[in-house]
Amino acid sequence: MDARHGASEPAVYISRAALLHNVGVVRRALGESTKICAIVKADAYGHDAQIVVDALCNFSHEGAEAPMVDALAVASIDEATALPPNPLPVMVLRPVENAFVGRQRAAIDHAVRSGWTLTLCSAAAANDVARIAMHAGKRANVQIMVDTGMRRSGVCLNHLDELILRIESHPSLRLCGLGTHFATAEDASNPLAVEQLHQFRAATDLYVRGAERTIRRHAANSGAIFFWPESQLDMVRPGISLYGIDPAGKPNLNRPLRPVLKWTAPLIGIRDVKRGATVGYGQTWKAGRDTRVGLVPVGYADGYSRRFSNRGVMLVHGKAAPIAGIVSMDMTTIDLGEISDAKVGDEVTILDNDPLSPASVYMLARWAETIPYEVVSRIGPRVKRIAINPSEIPAGEEEDAADLQES
Ligand SMILES: *Cc1c(COP(=O)(O)O)cnc(C)c1O
Repeated sequence: MDARHGASEPAVYISRAALLHNVGVVRRALGESTKICAIVKADAYGHDAQIVVDALCNFSHEGAEAPMVDALAVASIDEATALPPNPLPVMVLRPVENAFVGRQRAAIDHAVRSGWTLTLCSAAAANDVARIAMHAGKRANVQIMVDTGMRRSGVCLNHLDELILRIESHPSLRLCGLGTHFATAEDASNPLAVEQLHQFRAATDLYVRGAERTIRRHAANSGAIFFWPESQLDMVRPGISLYGIDPAGKPNLNRPLRPVLKWTAPLIGIRDVKRGATVGYGQTWKAGRDTRVGLVPVGYADGYSRRFSNRGVMLVHGKAAPIAGIVSMDMTTIDLGEISDAKVGDEVTILDNDPLSPASVYMLARWAETIPYEVVSRIGPRVKRIAINPSEIPAGEEEDAADLQES
């Protein structure tokens, strides 16, 4: 851990080593020719897209060559714009709609000039992007997301052929991908995923045959990669698994994913509380004995859910300290009754990177009655993200760094 930051302020530590390890776990689940598109939307699920993309592109692992993945995907053009410079193809997942409303046109123009792949689900959107690309004097990379059962976005199967014809009629568009998204990939017993895959293949087989086969088909998120390997196709789209969180929502020893994120804060105060005294808003917690209550400078505005109130634990000296009372906006109180040697300045673990810890991401998700995705992607911008191990020296730059240290 970086001594400069120590335990002086709340921080999320991002382990590059764990991230690259997880890419390896995903890679080993794939056939030789299947590409990986790393999903880095929502600031890399709260892990900081700057750190994550830098680690994926500039650090190598287990002898593999950087970049460790073949493409990146984000939700919006704004998110693509915020990525650090990188050599990878970038996909924007949110379908283009209302291209001529507000500042959309400028954003699409920027995306086209940047070479990012835009997602199309309607002929109208295809026409709009074609026009913008013509004006820019560039060919726009586009892909189609096909709705095979999620029924959220995506073109319906019976409009797919028409949309492909429309795209092919525009010289300023280049169709480079066809995708679909599973509604039940994490549920290995639900046959809907099989049905979705079957429909997707049947509707698209025609378009990916032929001599120069440049249209890449992709369907699998993390769950599908592990539970429905036949869905891996030309490319997979893992998100949660890269961050070391099992798509099944609990740790699985067959897939040794390593959580990438650890969230800590300093203990900034301790007070003695007499038996019978109440702590926090609404007097919801009452001391059952004389005890000490610790103050942690993290609250629901940081993404530490108010639902953890009187339910969750934080770790001090590796021991569980129950949350005492209501989590407030900027602060949380914990019962230090079992941790007699805790003192101000000690490090408190808020979200542990050990999947079996009492403060693991799986436990936090359970306390808040949600899924780990929401727990990590909600960690707020006020919490500083700090990259750790391997050290700050990217692959191939060791010598430069050594020179710097000498001078
Ligand atoms: C977010 C997202 C993914 C990644 O899903 P995980 O379950 O996190 O692996 C894949 N595909 C699409 C279209 C997505 O929106």
